[in-house]
Amino acid sequence: MDKDRSSQAPPHVLVFPIPLQGHINSMIKLSELLALAGFRITFLNSDHNHERLVKLTDMATHFARYPGFEFKTITDGLPPDHPRTGNWFMENYVEVIEPKTKQNLREILLNISPPVDCIIGDGFLGFVLDVGKDLGIPVICFRTSSPHGFWVYHSIPDIIQAGELPIKGSEDMDRLITTVPGMETYLRCRDLPSFCRAPDMEDPIVKLVFKETRRSTQANALILNTTEELDGPILSQIRTKCRNIYALGPIHAQLNTRLKAKHRDPHDHFSNTLWKEDESCISWLDQQSNRSVIYVSFGSITTMSRDKLVEVWYGLVNSKAKFLLVVRPNFMTGEDSEGEDDVVRELLEKTKDRGYTVQWAPQEAVLNHPAVGGFLTHSGWNSTLESIVAGVPMICWPYFADQQVNSRAVSEVWKIGLDMKDVCDRKVVEKMVNKVMVDRKEEFAKSAAEMAKLINQSVNEGGSSCSNLDRLIEDIREMRLKTPPAIHN
Ligand code: UDP
Repeated sequence: MDKDRSSQAPPHVLVFPIPLQGHINSMIKLSELLALAGFRITFLNSDHNHERLVKLTDMATHFARYPGFEFKTITDGLPPDHPRTGNWFMENYVEVIEPKTKQNLREILLNISPPVDCIIGDGFLGFVLDVGKDLGIPVICFRTSSPHGFWVYHSIPDIIQAGELPIKGSEDMDRLITTVPGMETYLRCRDLPSFCRAPDMEDPIVKLVFKETRRSTQANALILNTTEELDGPILSQIRTKCRNIYALGPIHAQLNTRLKAKHRDPHDHFSNTLWKEDESCISWLDQQSNRSVIYVSFGSITTMSRDKLVEVWYGLVNSKAKFLLVVRPNFMTGEDSEGEDDVVRELLEKTKDRGYTVQWAPQEAVLNHPAVGGFLTHSGWNSTLESIVAGVPMICWPYFADQQVNSRAVSEVWKIGLDMKDVCDRKVVEKMVNKVMVDRKEEFAKSAAEMAKLINQSVNEGGSSCSNLDRLIEDIREMRLKTPPAIHN
């Protein structure tokens, strides 16, 4: 490849996320931050997601403001009519996604012009390291999951070796796990990532998760979407395995701050969502009093049985709060014919007085709306950070992956919400909503506001995340001039 270019030309970075909403969100925002620094960016989307983004958003207009910003597409290896819900990515990774995508990535990198100086690859895509090494391109891994999740994934072999996994049938799920350094006092069996509930540790998904996590520490560096202020103790642990960490989040807040500094409207950022946002919920929120509404959304991947959703719904309808509920089109499993069920009809009727339902919400705007006083969430890492930045207390009902440990951190470490994992029925939902929205409202509002202040400072000039982003920008500029040594263990 032709590397002989003027040192004045901006660095060219290829950014490659896993084709899932949460991963795209943070990686596209990081790309925009690098574009603001003048970098040339190639953002690699799956064909399937790119088609949806083109259809649902005005991405062409938005990114036209960055002359060096380009989208390219790559297959995710699955046929166009594959439903791509639930845990589809992990289930297809080894057999289909990795082999098909790896070859394709290599071809893209060989043919791209100007050549790429650095790849920022999703930390879950370990094969990007092989391709980068093969072609002599430095790779920085971006782990979009939480540092708590990353560190537990990394520790899985040690937990198994200590005999604390697998979880046995008659297990006390409140038993403390003692082999994850830094979490000895609060990590329980039930807080381990969902995959750890497999009866056998030879389970392919368990093996895949820790293999890919350990591999990401072999990259030139690691990007994490967090701040020292939020995750300092866990970052210190991760640094024992990977010295060069850029903790430069929350990335969405960092982007808003830098857009403001450039006199751009921070709300004019690209809404990179794979579903059509229903803005009508903002008009509904405008009619509600301050901090009276609980926002309920379970992200882009979670599915829920119809019975479970009805339980959540009853809990909300019976609580003392108003609610804004997101029910994605592919959210409910075991669905009956729409609208024909008496229970659903009754709940929809009651919802009219007490709540509002949409298929997909403009989440950042919702969380920052004065009417919102709480967030019932699946504890996805983006949602958790968006709630922290907005100062909104959470009720956590984790679904899978790092969400089980995220919800523990929310309730036990940061004390900005309640953890509902494993006990979600209508009575519990009602009780917890009342606690956060009524009984302990001021206590949670105060702790969430204090945390928001601290975290928002970290993205301002002089803050830790702001400095870490500047360091990343400088380090990538230097990569154009020299190949850095591998930084790991
Ligand atoms: N989101 C949204 N509208 C919704 C629900 C979710 O824009 O109605 C966005 C949300 O702001 C977040 C992302 O989708 O940035 C979900 O990512 P997260 O990591 O929280 O969960 P995942 O979808 O990966 O499980």
